Amino acid sequence: MATQTARLLKRLRNDFQLSIITLMGFFGIVSISPYAVYRLLHGNYLVGIADTIIVLSTLFAVLYAWVTRDTVKPGIYLAAVFSVGATLIAINLGVNGLFWIYPLILFNFFMVTPGKALLATALVLVSLVSHALLVPGSVFESDYQMVSFLVTCMMASVLSFIFAFRTRTQRDQLQLLATHDPLTGARNRRAMNEELKIAMASHRRHSDSYGLLVMDLDHFKQINDRFGHHVGDQVLVAFVELIRRCCRKEDRLFRFGGEEFLLLLPNTEAQGLRAAAQNLLSRVGKELHSPGGAVTVSIGGAVLHSGEHWESWLQRADESLYRAKSEGRNRAVIADEQGSPATSAARH
Ligand code: GH3
Ligand code: MG
Ligand code: MG
Repeated sequence: MATQTARLLKRLRNDFQLSIITLMGFFGIVSISPYAVYRLLHGNYLVGIADTIIVLSTLFAVLYAWVTRDTVKPGIYLAAVFSVGATLIAINLGVNGLFWIYPLILFNFFMVTPGKALLATALVLVSLVSHALLVPGSVFESDYQMVSFLVTCMMASVLSFIFAFRTRTQRDQLQLLATHDPLTGARNRRAMNEELKIAMASHRRHSDSYGLLVMDLDHFKQINDRFGHHVGDQVLVAFVELIRRCCRKEDRLFRFGGEEFLLLLPNTEAQGLRAAAQNLLSRVGKELHSPGGAVTVSIGGAVLHSGEHWESWLQRADESLYRAKSEGRNRAVIADEQGSPATSAARH
C-alpha cells in the first residue's frame, strides 16, 4: 500500500501535466458537487443534472489520464468543459460571474497548447459579448464595463500566451539538451538507456522484434593524432550524417561513447540486421573520408532474444563488436540465435 502510494506520488512529481489535470479535476469536483446536490435537492433538476454530468465527466477525464498516460485529450476536454461552464455562469450571474473568466484564461493555458488556449478564450469572449449585445443588460451593466472587461481579458490572454509559449520553447530546448549529443546531434546515452528499456518492454508485451548495431570507427585515434581533434570531430559529424541517410525513419541512432555509436532497429530480425550492417559497412567504407583517406567502421550486432534483459542484449552486441575488431576491423559480426557470431567483411 505504501509503495503503491509512493508510486502514484512519483508519477505526479514526474508528470507535470498529469498533476495539473489531477489538481484542477479535484477542484472542479469538490467545488461543483455541492451545487449539484443542492440543486437536485431543491428540485432544480435541469441544472442539477448538468452539474452532475460535469462532475462525473471531470472524474472520468482525470481517471483516463491516469490509466492511459494520455494527458492531451483529457486536457482538451477539461478546457472545453470549464470554458463552457464559466461562460454559462457569467451569462447567468452577470458581473459577479465574470470574475471566473480570469482564472479560466490561466487554466486553459495550463491544460492545452498556447494556440488552443487562445482560441478557447476568444470563443468565450465572443460568446459573452454576443449574448450581451443580443440581451442588453444581461451580462454587463454598461458598455464601458464591457469594453474594460474585454481589454483586460485580452491583456491577460496575450501575456499568458507569451509566457506559455516561452516556457514550452525552453522546455523543448532543455529536453533536446538532456537527450542529445551536442557535437553530432545523435541521441545520447541517457536517451539510449530509456529506448532500450522501452524496446525490451514492447518485445515482452507485443513480441516486436528489435535489432541492435554497435558501431566503432576504426583507428580513430590516429585521425586525431595526425590531423587534430577538430578534424576528428568533423569525421564524427560526417559519420552521423551518413548513418542517418542510410537508415530507416524508425531507426534510432545514439552516441554510445567517444567514437562509438549504437543503432536501434525496430521490426528487424537477424537476417535484416545482417543486411543493414553490411549496407552501413560498405557505405561508410566508400563515403566517409578523413584527410588521410577512407575511414572504416567495425560493427557488432544482436537481435533481442525473448525474455532477455536489455543490458545482456547490449553486451552481446558489444561482444560481437569486440570480435569484429579482433578479426581485423572493417567488418560486421552478428550474434546469431545460438549466440555464435556470424561474420561478414566489407567488400569494396
Ligand atoms: P579501434 O580501431 O580499436 O577502435 O581504435 P581507435 O583508435 O578508434 O580506438 P581508441 O579507443 O584507441 O581511440 C578512440 C579515440 O577517440 C580516443 C579519443 O581521443 C577519441 N575521441 C573520443 N571522443 C572524441 C570526440 O568527441 N572528438 C574527437 N575528435 N575524438 C574523440
Ligand atoms: Mg575506434
Ligand atoms: Mg572505441
